[in-house]
Amino acid sequence: MNQPVQRALDEVRSRAEALGFDSFGVTAATARPDLPAKLNRALAAGWHGDMDWMAETEERRGAPQALWSEARSIIVLGMNYGPQSDPLALLEEKSLGTISVYARNRDYHEIIKGKLKELAGLLSRRTGAEVKVFVDTAPVMEKPLAEAAGLGWQGKHSVLVSRQFGSWLFLGAIFTDADLPLDSPHAENCGSCTKCLDICPTNAFPAPFKLDARRCLAYLSVEHKGPIPLEFRVPMGNRIYGCDDCLAVCPWNKFASVSREVRLQGRAEFERPELADLVGLDDPGFRALFAGSPIKRIGHARFLRNVLIAIGNSGDRHLLEAAIAQLDSREPVVRGAAVWAVRKLAPQRANALEAQYLPNEADADVRTEWTVALDD
Ligand code: SF4
Repeated sequence: MNQPVQRALDEVRSRAEALGFDSFGVTAATARPDLPAKLNRALAAGWHGDMDWMAETEERRGAPQALWSEARSIIVLGMNYGPQSDPLALLEEKSLGTISVYARNRDYHEIIKGKLKELAGLLSRRTGAEVKVFVDTAPVMEKPLAEAAGLGWQGKHSVLVSRQFGSWLFLGAIFTDADLPLDSPHAENCGSCTKCLDICPTNAFPAPFKLDARRCLAYLSVEHKGPIPLEFRVPMGNRIYGCDDCLAVCPWNKFASVSREVRLQGRAEFERPELADLVGLDDPGFRALFAGSPIKRIGHARFLRNVLIAIGNSGDRHLLEAAIAQLDSREPVVRGAAVWAVRKLAPQRANALEAQYLPNEADADVRTEWTVALDD
């Protein structure tokens, strides 16, 4: 490898560390020729649910050089977002909502975008190479690329596992047309462990290393727009945004540490939010509380839908009146979830309310909520 390129890469690596990145590796743009076929199989099986954008970007997503034909090397960077406490412990506190660790503070895309651009600029200045940074807006399969760059391996739950940071790495990538010195791919280290598959409350893994997003609570609570399908509502428990079960249970987390980026450490009000407070938020209150957070992107109605499912699962009769108040929501997806919550918390009261609300209900889905059998 020529010395100027190696020196430039060393400089980029040490600047990345100073900027707060915890993991760094380089792979070839052609390192994963297996990806297009894998992606095609997953899409053909329909596991992407209503994330139509995954199918629309299939070709570019499957191969870095389909995204940018000049790409030769890819620098993959990881930032540790390890939590302060065990995310699984909160699932037992039914009057609280559980927010996925990655969403307990600022949107990480906003945090790493500028840093990646700075590093790409540095590489370009030192080598004259063309560079491109893809954050969020482009279809990049960061996890297999991170595995190829030696940051860790894709575990049986399909997420990257790091020997150093366990399950908690945000990933970003810098593409370049330069031929950089490459790191070795990381070997898979799951062995006979199946903890992440076994803990999944909705059986979202049809097989090791395969995830059916349509059954995944992280997908259903964030990406899915309509009512939560009935079979997943009880398993959803108090998860109001995302799900960390398969990440949190991984034994490799014993090596994890708390994120050193303050803006990724959980905000106190997102660590143990009271369902009673969340259901009372109006739209401006929701926007204000979640400004700068990824949670804001799902919008107030979808958020309330999730909170009402958690209220239905809480068994906490103190939350009943707040759920009843949402029967008057203008949003069908909120009314529908409110019906479910009221029926779960107080079946007899729900019967009386049905006589009041059902005759005036125009939305077919909400009408079904009043009448469908609840068998659990
Ligand atoms: Fe692999 Fe076990 Fe971790 Fe799952 S929980 S990613 S199987 S080591």
